[in-house]
Amino acid sequence: MVACKTSPPSTTLAVKSWPIVFDEDRTQLSLDYMQEHYGMTPEAPTIDPKMIVVHWTAIPTLQASYEAFYESRLPASRATIGKASPLNVSVPYLIDRDGAIYQLMPDTLFARHVIGLNHCAIGIENVGDGGEHPLTEAQFVANVQLIKQLLTKYNIQYVIGHHEYQQFIGHPLWKEKDANYLTKKSDPGDAFMQRIRSELSDFNLLPLPAEDSIRQGISGQVRWYEGNLMPTVGDAPAQQQGEAVQRRIHVHELTHRDQATEESGFFSKMHSRQVATVYTDSLGLFLLSLPVGKYSVLVEEENGLFANRFDGEGHIAPVEVEADEVIRLELKIDYRATY
Ligand SMILES: [Zn+2]
Repeated sequence: MVACKTSPPSTTLAVKSWPIVFDEDRTQLSLDYMQEHYGMTPEAPTIDPKMIVVHWTAIPTLQASYEAFYESRLPASRATIGKASPLNVSVPYLIDRDGAIYQLMPDTLFARHVIGLNHCAIGIENVGDGGEHPLTEAQFVANVQLIKQLLTKYNIQYVIGHHEYQQFIGHPLWKEKDANYLTKKSDPGDAFMQRIRSELSDFNLLPLPAEDSIRQGISGQVRWYEGNLMPTVGDAPAQQQGEAVQRRIHVHELTHRDQATEESGFFSKMHSRQVATVYTDSLGLFLLSLPVGKYSVLVEEENGLFANRFDGEGHIAPVEVEADEVIRLELKIDYRATY
């Protein structure tokens, strides 16, 4: 179906203006971010909207969520992302738990809320989290109404959840220059995004890049971890995010430890059928079509095949692929890490 981009939305949406600071400092920090991370040198920090990214704030109240975006500079507690830039995070829209929508800054000004894609992404934050304050029905309704209004106004191609942003690595819209500046996100989750997108079928949105490339199998990323990975307060230090690495992945039919030769933490021989091997790209990303079945997925290291995950019965790195399902895996190589 074709979107009616010229017709106004059927109802006027109540959006309250509640500006955050957007002073010279924020302007300059935005321009610096665009240059350092994206190689873009515009005169003004504006964006060309192609995407809407939905978030939760992981902060339980409206006021505290607003305050997190208010200042131009990141607070000292966010040291990890602070290394990438001192620019504070923000979004144009903040939705309270009762569905009230607040506009914090203009849609087309640069806001930092999604790595790699800030130059084209309009952000919507929802007050809530994935635990004690799950997103509400009123927030769902408000998100759909607001997104529909934005779709009539801009040439938007994708509506995504923050947790899906890494699927755009390698996509033409992805501009981040530092392959290791990545954070893992879970907001707002598949259920919320599937519901939102099911309300938007009248619009010309594109499927997410990883979704249409294979129908069934495994996809994900290999990351290298070393050093002390003890939990800390505030943002995790860089080593806890790991580093994307290029590797070869081995997929065997589901293999028990008894069917393999194990030497100092590596598997030197697997006495089971090898189903496939696949190389990741330079960012550690892989994608492999597989028949329905149960598999063991290992990473090739110099000393042998590595896996750090076993089920209760002693199967090595088990993965079950079901019909029409792509399983996302993060393969963590962590034998040089301590916990
Ligand atoms: Zn987010």
